[in-house]
Order: sequence, then structure tokens, then C-alpha cells
Amino acid sequence: MQLYNSLSRQKEPFTTVEPNKVKMYTCGPTVYHFAHIGNLRTYIMEDVLDKYLRFSGNDVLRIMNITDVGHLTSDGDTGDDKMLKGAKREHKTVMEIAKYYTDAFFSDCKKLNIKTPEVVQPATGCIPEFIDAVQKLLEKGYAYEAGGNVYFDTSKLEQYYRFHDFKEEDLEDGVREGVEKDDNKRNKADFVLWFTKSKFDDQELKWESPWGLGYPGWHIECSCISMKYAGEYLDLHCGGIDNMFPHHTNEIAQSESLIGHEWCRHWFHVHHLNDETGKMSKSKGEFLTVSLLEEKGFDPLAYRFFCLQSHYRKSLVFSWDNMKNAQTAYNKLVAKIRTLLNEQDAVDETKKAELLKAFTEAMDNDLNTAQAVTVLYDILKADTTAATRLACIEELDKVLSLDLIGHAKALADAEQDAAQEIPAEVLALVEQRKEARKAKDFAKADALRDEIAALGWQIRETRQGTEITKM
Ligand SMILES: [Zn+2]
Repeated sequence: MQLYNSLSRQKEPFTTVEPNKVKMYTCGPTVYHFAHIGNLRTYIMEDVLDKYLRFSGNDVLRIMNITDVGHLTSDGDTGDDKMLKGAKREHKTVMEIAKYYTDAFFSDCKKLNIKTPEVVQPATGCIPEFIDAVQKLLEKGYAYEAGGNVYFDTSKLEQYYRFHDFKEEDLEDGVREGVEKDDNKRNKADFVLWFTKSKFDDQELKWESPWGLGYPGWHIECSCISMKYAGEYLDLHCGGIDNMFPHHTNEIAQSESLIGHEWCRHWFHVHHLNDETGKMSKSKGEFLTVSLLEEKGFDPLAYRFFCLQSHYRKSLVFSWDNMKNAQTAYNKLVAKIRTLLNEQDAVDETKKAELLKAFTEAMDNDLNTAQAVTVLYDILKADTTAATRLACIEELDKVLSLDLIGHAKALADAEQDAAQEIPAEVLALVEQRKEARKAKDFAKADALRDEIAALGWQIRETRQGTEITKM
């Protein structure tokens, strides 16, 4: 498979340390609020990648952290504490907030058919690992204490900026966006590994450490959680494009300083979901969530379909009109597949392999899901048996996870129920027959029964009452 690597900035063959074993890491959510559908786009595309790697015969170990401590509102070390902000907003404790929004996140994932990773690790569950890593970085001379905090010293690295797209000047933005500048830092790019001098007096979660009572910086958690479960080598690290800097840059700095060699060779980044005015953010306009999609009558899987129709390395523009189009297209697909369900023919294995080859070619080309969707339409139009087409769709949907056949079956059931609906005319006759029986006019009751039968309906007296079924 050819996959774009953000480190080399080119498409390259995706390889792993151990053949056919993929150790994959995903930066998880900061659980202080509902997930925005823009963030969920990243999780959808990562899910497709995960499933496609399995489809291609790999074992995948997927690890995800849950950030429940240490993440400030700017991804640098400035701004407010996100968890604390959430807790204050809702008058709850930080751990209550974390539990509530972790559950909400996985409920959204379920609706979007995003598989839960093998390992899901909240940051607060790995404090000893973080302390150990910070201690090692201090011993190795990559970190220093200043003003009560521990910082990573980026000047000790030969190369700190790894994703090229970012320059030192970009840092000013992070500072400007936040509340204050940190004068303890020796270099502008240095970042906090451990806070003891919290500017948040009411910081709820604090742990004993060699540097005093405090809490970890955000970046250290991903390095440590990854190494705890995947060891020193990671094959694939994923995230949204805004994680590239500073978060992923800092993860690499810490991890490689700790282990003394290359850590993860392949980096996968999903681009932004924008609205028509530019980048979509929580502060601007509507806060777009899966629940809001549902409230507006959309199937969350239609949103998944919307995401798949575009390449993960392109910005995707969200609007309600685009969403409506996606829902309509999704419904049409399902309706088309529904027509295949009643056919009783056989699978043409040669044709099936040929059609599936077009799918793997699309996906092997840097996870081109937009092309895979085109293949899906080609399969529906293909000159072959219904069974062949259905068998192909079943295979594709192991990766695309649009529940196409499930929805088509539900549609068929709904049609059957509608066909079973009893006409008002029949119901009126049933009512008249009931009255006749009450009045012990059995001749009239029998005549009405015949009349009902002539309309194609059968009545039967049961203990529960009169049962009406189609003949
Ligand atoms: Zn991370």
C-alpha cells in the first residue's frame, strides 16, 4: 500500500517493523466537551485506515489515549486548563466531566461505526510512567527545571521541527493565542513536561512527584502510553493535521530522546473540516455534533459517507446543503442495494475478484476513499449477477462501514410492514362485525367475514382479540 507520510512529505510504501503486524497509535479526545464532527472526521478516516490494514491481511494493535488532564486551550502551554474549564462550566468534578464526555465520545463513535481501539488508556491512569519518563529526560540532559516546572530543552536536538511545514515564527501564534508568555523557558519552542507551579490554584488533579505536587504536560502522555503498549517502535501514528505542531513534533522530540533511536516511521494526518468561511471552530457559529446531525434528521452514517467521498488529505467543506446531498445519495445507494436482495442467483467469483481489485487499487493509492466510493457505484452498475454485486458490497463495507446491506434489509422490512398495513375499509368492516357479534347477529357477522375475505384479509378470534392478517 502506498501511503502519504507527513515526515517525508511523500507517498511511500507502508511498511512495518514486524511483517503484517501494525502497531498503530491514535491521539484520542480531550474529554471536556462533546466531540465536534470536524474532529470525528479524523477518527472516521483513521478507522477506515485501521480496517483497510486488517482487510489487507495485517494484525493491527491500535492504541488510543484519553486526555483527561494537562491539556491547555492553546496546544502550546498557554491558556486555560480544558478539563477545569469543562468542570466549572457544568459544576462537576474533573473526573465526572471526563467520564461523561468519554462515554459521549464512544457513543458518537458507535453511531459512526468507528471501532473502539484495542487499547484505550486515560492519561490519569499512567502518572507513574510519565514521572519515570520525565526523570529519564532530566538524567539524559534533555530537560531542565525552572520556576517549579520541568521543561523539555529543544536546543539539545539536532532537529526539532520534523514536519517542515512549521517554522519557529509559527510559535508566536501559540503565544499570542494564549494568556501569557512563559519566561521560564530557555528556548521559545521548549515545552512543559511536568507542571508544579500551576497557574490554576484550583487545579483538582495533582500527584506527588520528585519535583513537588503537580500534573503532567499534555504531550508526554502520548509518548508514554504508546511505549507502554507498543514498546519502542511504532509503525503508524495518526491524528488531525493540527496535531502536527506542536503536539506531534513534541511527541517525537521526547520519545526519540528517551529511546535514542527512531520511534515511529509513518505519520498519517487528516485535514480539516471547514465551513464555507474557512476553518470551523467551536467558538464560531453552531457547535456541530453527532446529536445535532440526528436532531436535524440525518443518519450519522450519511455523515460518514460524506467524509468518505473526499480524500483525507483535502480540506472538506461542510454545509447543511452538502449534508443533505450526502443523505440523499446515501438513501439512493441503500434503495439500489435493496432491489438486489430478492434476486436468487449465484456469485460469479471471477467477476467478484475483478471488481474487488478496483477497490484495493483505490485504497492502496493513499487510501483513496473517494475513488472507492466510485468503485461502489461501478459495482452496482456492473454487468453481473445480483449475488455477485451484493458479495462485493459486503466486502467493501468491511472497510467503509456504511452498513449498506443492513440498511437495505431494514428498508425491505419497512416495505413489508407497509404492505401489511390494514386498509381503513377492512377495519370498518371488522368493527361492524364486532357489533353484529355483540348483538348476536351471527348471520350478519358471517356475511361481513366473507366481505372482508373478498378484500383479501382474514380474521381470526384469539384470546388477545381479533387478529387480522393478509391472505
Ligand atoms: Zn497525542
